[in-house]
Amino acid sequence: FESLGNRLQDILDNLRKSSTLTEAQVKAAMREIRMALLEADVNFGVAKDFVARVSEKAVGQEVLGNLQAGQQVVKVVHDELIETLGGKAQQPNLKNEGNVFFLVGLQGAGKTTSAGKLASHYKSKGRRVLLVAADTQRPAAREQLRTLGQQVGVPVLEVADHEDPVTTRTRLAEHLQKDYRDLIIVDTAGRLQIDEALMDQLADLKGALSPTETLLVVDAMTGQEALNVAQTFESRIGLSGLIMTKLDGDARGGAALSARFVTGKPIYFAGVSEKLSGLEPFYPDRIAGRILG
Ligand code: GDP
Repeated sequence: FESLGNRLQDILDNLRKSSTLTEAQVKAAMREIRMALLEADVNFGVAKDFVARVSEKAVGQEVLGNLQAGQQVVKVVHDELIETLGGKAQQPNLKNEGNVFFLVGLQGAGKTTSAGKLASHYKSKGRRVLLVAADTQRPAAREQLRTLGQQVGVPVLEVADHEDPVTTRTRLAEHLQKDYRDLIIVDTAGRLQIDEALMDQLADLKGALSPTETLLVVDAMTGQEALNVAQTFESRIGLSGLIMTKLDGDARGGAALSARFVTGKPIYFAGVSEKLSGLEPFYPDRIAGRILG
């Protein structure tokens, strides 16, 4: 596997050989860049659109005929990559009270782990956090969150088997009356595959709990699949932001680019280990650097 950075370097070296760029050379370079993006696991449609925008900008900045044309093209690619990934690091919106984070995603994406990490992160910032284990099908998932809650030192409200969303909402309200909390983090059910029944359940629960943030947890290692997942959750549930997990693995960052591109929603956090401390703000420039290699 040759990184996109190395490939761009090759392209750049080729471009440098001639002092000015011809249109044909730019086209060839764009083809190379698209190939390299695909190899970094960026979705085809996303890569195509990305390259189209870079071409437009490169031509718009009149790099043709310019002495540093090659270098300029590479800078355009880098800047556009950061821009596509969201520009600056962003954080979820938080009010003084009544914050509800609703975590959704496929099973195994790292939802429950991320719920625990978020609880730990916000507790250390002085928030009064309540975790809600809202997987009505799998007691093991609820138990996992209970254990995390104990480790972090925040209470966990568990739904009952097959509990309906309205009952969950009522029980949550009762719980908050007895024990005031300003940030509720809801860990929802996941499936190995996206299915209609799951989406209906999630939509119902979301309707009942009126979250202030709906966060899709995406496994960075899933590459192309991240695009379908993000697209489906965005259209069926509606998202306000993303969390990319497992960025400590050897994922090339393409999933982040694709997921961000199709949803247009900010990636707030990066999961960088299995530990509770393994959550960082998502920095677009770092991931751009990683995609570029
Ligand atoms: P869920 O089914 O979406 O709730 O997924 P889990 O939270 O149970 O996570 C699935 C697996 O991924 C577990 O083994 C976690 O320890 C692991 N995991 C979650 N987030 C990360 C991460 O950011 N980095 C690494 N290396 N592993 C993670």
